[in-house]
Amino acid sequence: MAFVITDPCINTKDTACVDVCPVDCIHPRKDEPDFDQTTILYIHPEECIDCGACVPACPVAAIYDSPESTPKSQTSLIEANAIFRSGDSATLAKAEALVSAHVAAHPELMAIPPADRANAHNK
Ligand code: SF4
Ligand code: SF4
Repeated sequence: MAFVITDPCINTKDTACVDVCPVDCIHPRKDEPDFDQTTILYIHPEECIDCGACVPACPVAAIYDSPESTPKSQTSLIEANAIFRSGDSATLAKAEALVSAHVAAHPELMAIPPADRANAHNK
């Protein structure tokens, strides 16, 4: 089990979750060189300890508490979270390709402001 970051993080990416994570498993951080190259942040599924601290910290409700609870419209982003490794350009490219495909597949969600987008995930 691990927490999953989803599409309200796109165009938000404020790193509020990074600041509260006790095990530093959310990347890239602002001080990592690949920060500017990602459209969202990613949670390392094996390092996350399921503490839940990131969920209330996120201003746009982008974080779900498990792959199983992640809405169907967001399932491709579960894999994006799982494969990204900060400092590894190959995994960055794969994760960002999944995000780009998600954006292309969900214009209806991208038309909604990030703060309201999670409310539409299950519709
Ligand atoms: S649930 Fe806890 S350990 Fe996992 S990403 Fe969120 S803050 Fe970090
Ligand atoms: S707090 Fe939410 S919007 Fe901000 S970086 Fe983390 S997941 Fe993205």
